[in-house]
Amino acid sequence: MKMFHEEVEANDMKKKDENISAMCKPAVGEAGRTGDWRDLRPIIDNSKCTPFVKKKAACYLCWLYCPEGIVKAGIPVEIDLDYCKGCGICAEECPSRAISMVREDKCND
Ligand code: SF4
Ligand code: SF4
Repeated sequence: MKMFHEEVEANDMKKKDENISAMCKPAVGEAGRTGDWRDLRPIIDNSKCTPFVKKKAACYLCWLYCPEGIVKAGIPVEIDLDYCKGCGICAEECPSRAISMVREDKCND
């Protein structure tokens, strides 16, 4: 059976962990819903994207560096455009140059 102070310590550690992860993990859509005011849209060319080409989980630097945490590291990689602010960091970090930043008024939808 746990002593009272061990229970308190365990709860404190749990709270501490929750706080740490809240500070370290980007929350989805930290900049709010940006789809309306974004100027540039990231477009992924799957033919250059490593996970899509190799058909396995790989690279995902766009997922790692996106400050909004809205890149889904799957096959294919997906970006939640409702919350993408168009900063272009993903495109800058992509080693395969698979992401292009395209002006919103040049996009079809
Ligand atoms: S442009 Fe790229 S890095 Fe910037 S918010 Fe959108 S998906 Fe994330
Ligand atoms: S960084 Fe580029 S190559 Fe890597 S997963 Fe993202 S889009 Fe694909």
